[in-house]
Amino acid sequence: MMIGSGKRPAAFIDRDGTLIEEVNFLSRVEDLRVFPHTAEALRQLRSNGYLIVVVTNQSGIGRGLYTESDMNSIHAAMQTELGGIIDGFYHCPHLPDAGCECRKPGLGMLRFAERDLEIDLAVSWMIGDKRIDVETGQNANIRSALVLTGYGTLHRDHLAVEPDVIGETLLDAVEKIVSYGSAAAVL
Ligand SMILES: [Mg+2]
Ligand SMILES: [Zn+2]
Repeated sequence: MMIGSGKRPAAFIDRDGTLIEEVNFLSRVEDLRVFPHTAEALRQLRSNGYLIVVVTNQSGIGRGLYTESDMNSIHAAMQTELGGIIDGFYHCPHLPDAGCECRKPGLGMLRFAERDLEIDLAVSWMIGDKRIDVETGQNANIRSALVLTGYGTLHRDHLAVEPDVIGETLLDAVEKIVSYGSAAAVL
């Protein structure tokens, strides 16, 4: 058999401003607003074979603004609202200057997910609303998409690296990603 593993492509997706409305240091479930198009975007990724992995920098934890438990409550509420479609949540709790390996554009979170979820990195995508999300994709040598929600319109004009796709929303980006080449076609 030519294919020696059951590895699947992943969509690594930023949380704030990409899946949900940007709220500065979101700490309370009451302030969580999942974009209305998010559920459909994730369904399309799933039906095209992608694992759905949230990768989020949460320096508010390192700053003492909220706890890991507060964040976990928000992630649980997202899962409930989205029918449990998310395969994994990975977060970096550190301060930007901590020098950790997990904070985007570092690759720690992608590496942890790759280890946990049998991901085929080469056919995966990184999707987010900030320049660091696009740079994370570049650092991992995978394709990237910038969404124009959240900080997207602001960051579009300050990119050091061009994303492969720009979408008005996550749904728009996903429609471009799945037509870009199905996961099977690029294997
Ligand atoms: Mg973001
Ligand atoms: Zn970190």
